[in-house]
Amino acid sequence: MSVESTEIHRSQFMRDVMAETPDGERLVHCLQCGSCGGSCPNGPDMDYTPRAIFSMIAANRRDDVLKSNTMWCCVSCYFCTARCPQEIPITETMYTLKRMAIREGKATEGDAPALARTFTGFVDKFGRAFEVGIATRYLMLNKPMSGLKSMGMGMSMFARGRLSLRPAKIRQTGQLQAIISKARELSKQERRSGGAS
Ligand code: SF4
Ligand code: SF4
Repeated sequence: MSVESTEIHRSQFMRDVMAETPDGERLVHCLQCGSCGGSCPNGPDMDYTPRAIFSMIAANRRDDVLKSNTMWCCVSCYFCTARCPQEIPITETMYTLKRMAIREGKATEGDAPALARTFTGFVDKFGRAFEVGIATRYLMLNKPMSGLKSMGMGMSMFARGRLSLRPAKIRQTGQLQAIISKARELSKQERRSGGAS
């Protein structure tokens, strides 16, 4: 059962994050108990644990949060969300922070943001991920030397029928693109009007 009486200060950054996150209004009820950080399998690789991130959001440390690698280490396992006593949408908040970091040009130029952009580019176009295309485009644009080294492994997987050299497309990609385009437009409108209700 969650505790509703403890409300923390709403910084401008917290208001922005709340507005973009489903059930984001629950962020003000974080108790700083640390269950999220303790549950996170990738906590050791993060610049700040999820608990620390919520504290920094409350303290309006926008740059520190958006330039951190924390959300990029999140693999959306939902362990933290399941264990949070305050029903705070932690995993969804990580998605919000990724979007904000990219939009505001603060994403760390590590592997994960570039990989995420490459992945969404293919999903936008074909409606599905395309492993060979993602790996090739990502490696060639970001790590050309690693790309060359990985070619042997790619060829071996192809020879065993584990990889396709052509992207599989869903039917009616036009409809998907129209949905994505509408969602982006609505998201922009929401941001302009000060966030979701
Ligand atoms: S588990 Fe929930 S209440 Fe506890 S620190 Fe994390 S977000 Fe806050
Ligand atoms: S959803 Fe993300 S932040 Fe939460 S426990 Fe899993 S990896 Fe960690």
